[in-house]
Amino acid sequence: MLELQGLTRRRVLKSVIGSAAGLALGAPIERLVAQQPIAPGPPDGGPYVRLTDDLFVISLPGETNVVAHTSPSGVLLVDGGSAKASGALMKAVAGLPGAGPVHTLVNTHWHPEQTGLNEQLGQAGKTIVAHENTRLWLSTDVTWSWNGQRFKRLSKVAQPNKTFYTTGKFDSGTTYGYIPDAAHTDGDMYVYFPKQNVLAVGDVMSGAGWPLVDWQTGGWIGGIAGAMQRLQTLVNSETRIVPGRGPVLGLADLKAQADMYGTIYTRLAALLNKGRGPSEAVDARPTKEFDDRMGNPDEFVRRSFESLWAYLSPDA
Ligand SMILES: [Zn+2]
Repeated sequence: MLELQGLTRRRVLKSVIGSAAGLALGAPIERLVAQQPIAPGPPDGGPYVRLTDDLFVISLPGETNVVAHTSPSGVLLVDGGSAKASGALMKAVAGLPGAGPVHTLVNTHWHPEQTGLNEQLGQAGKTIVAHENTRLWLSTDVTWSWNGQRFKRLSKVAQPNKTFYTTGKFDSGTTYGYIPDAAHTDGDMYVYFPKQNVLAVGDVMSGAGWPLVDWQTGGWIGGIAGAMQRLQTLVNSETRIVPGRGPVLGLADLKAQADMYGTIYTRLAALLNKGRGPSEAVDARPTKEFDDRMGNPDEFVRRSFESLWAYLSPDA
């Protein structure tokens, strides 16, 4: 486990440092305000946005986005909300047009906001797909260093039972793949629906303010900047991107975020090179021109700076 994490981290370092360091500096941010979903909401006022006749985003209050793909063989879900919302989520899924039983759940990463259905669906013998690193995090206890928050490992039956390392494909033609930049965690993945031209990316991209930089399980600010570049190779100007939180996004949002995080990464790396610490990084206001739109950045900047330590110090 520890050895695997180390290997993953070093591999990521080799592939990402170069590209993140080469990002353009200070490009203007045209727009960070997310575009509205293209399709209208459901006529019955259900808690979902209809992307196409067979693809929906379910947004329950206080919960992260869940993508549901309906078909004659049942429903595929990308992420499963938190455990406390599992009843409400299954009810919402059952209320979708063309809904049937859930046959597959994808975990875009290990966080409890995405894995709350694992126990129920695992017990029922359903397929749970995740990157192998996500399975590893879900099979061990995790404690966040910065606030002491603890996460218990999932029971064996609730853990992902179909893992992968690079890419995969479902019978429906829907594809999925690893996002190796370690933007949010070191197990991040996307799911791409080619017929609908929809890309689900979990918390790798946020449509609702500053993201959590979970360096405890491999995420880092250089990875966020790198992933915003990488995701551009997976989409076109028509692609709808479903983030973990907030409304459906598009290529323009992705480009704006790539510029923003590239700028922030470069500034934080410069502060690190001058021997500054996390509190000094917060004081330096490396996000100042973005704060009006993105909100108070202090936690984000602190975690981002700590993530540089985790990645760039010699013993990382
Ligand atoms: Zn997350």
